[in-house]
Amino acid sequence: MSILVYIENVEGELKKSAYETLSYGKALGDMTGEEVTALSIGNVSGEQLEKVGKYGVKKVIEVNTKDLSHFLNQAYASVISEVAKNLHTNTVVLANSFSGKGLAPRVAAKLSAALADGAISLPEISGAAWTIKKAVFSNKAIATEELHEQKKVIAITPNSLEAKVSPVEVTVEKYEPQVLPADLSTIIKDIVRATDKISLPEADIVVSAGRGMKGPENWAMIEELAQVLGAATACSKPVSDAGWRPHEEHVGQTGLAVTPNLYIAIGISGAIQHLAGVSASKTIVVINKDPEAPFFKVADYGIVGDAFEVIPQLIEAIKAY
Ligand code: FAD
Repeated sequence: MSILVYIENVEGELKKSAYETLSYGKALGDMTGEEVTALSIGNVSGEQLEKVGKYGVKKVIEVNTKDLSHFLNQAYASVISEVAKNLHTNTVVLANSFSGKGLAPRVAAKLSAALADGAISLPEISGAAWTIKKAVFSNKAIATEELHEQKKVIAITPNSLEAKVSPVEVTVEKYEPQVLPADLSTIIKDIVRATDKISLPEADIVVSAGRGMKGPENWAMIEELAQVLGAATACSKPVSDAGWRPHEEHVGQTGLAVTPNLYIAIGISGAIQHLAGVSASKTIVVINKDPEAPFFKVADYGIVGDAFEVIPQLIEAIKAY
């Protein structure tokens, strides 16, 4: 029996969440005594695949066929299940990312496995039952879920568990899956943004701003703060609705849910719909001129002040640090 870890890439580079899933798989292997294998789908260089060994996983199966060079939910789920069946896998681990959210239930259905999506802990194992913690209700509560099936699919929330380094030698094995034409029938248009900005779902630090910034012309200071911190930028819904910022920066209940280590909210009131997408961040810093702003209730640190005075000082202080 074995554990299979699906590692995601973007444009051929392993994502940060890939390292977290590898580290999770390795820890799970240490607990169960099962062998851990990673699975990469798409055009990922050998140099990138070597990095798998850094997180204690000794073997990578590489699927790099032309048909699968772009992400396709149905086809990727078929490949993951096929490899899992070949390896007699009991547990499939993947990230609960945008694509992982589509893959995990499909893989679970194909393997007749129990599904824990949004896991934020390693399981407690008691005989056949595994107990896993997961964030629910837009991160307002933590549910404890018991899995009783022998086969399990665990989709872990990005940034919820640290990737632990434990280097080993890694071997890469190429594999040609039997993908059905029906799985490949989706026509896709791949839009690649030419940007050197940090990807918001993957970011360790997010600088987010709201209507308190008054207008799009004032975003230069938000971008500068993000740049000096090595952060991604985000915004509240009204800001993207007004066209001040692109829609992919909108976080919250109806936007992206993010879980960075540091979320800095500037001129955002902290409405419940906004908090739904950001409250699982490890540390929240709020900058708002209204001391009664609801965001302060969930903040770890707060600055009551005018963003137009605070942000330039913050940028100068960080630059001088
Ligand atoms: P405002 O509520 O206008 O707050 C602006 C804040 O800036 C205030 O707290 C003010 O004190 C502060 N401020 C003003 N000037 C300054 C200054 N100079 N310096 C510092 N602070 C200043 N919202 C989301 O963000 N994401 C969602 O996904 C989302 N989904 C929704 C879904 C539904 C069904 C509904 C009904 C609403 C949703 N909303 C969502 C909207 C949400 O309810 C709020 O209206 C929105 O989050 C408010 O955005 P804001 O905080 O930027 O603006």
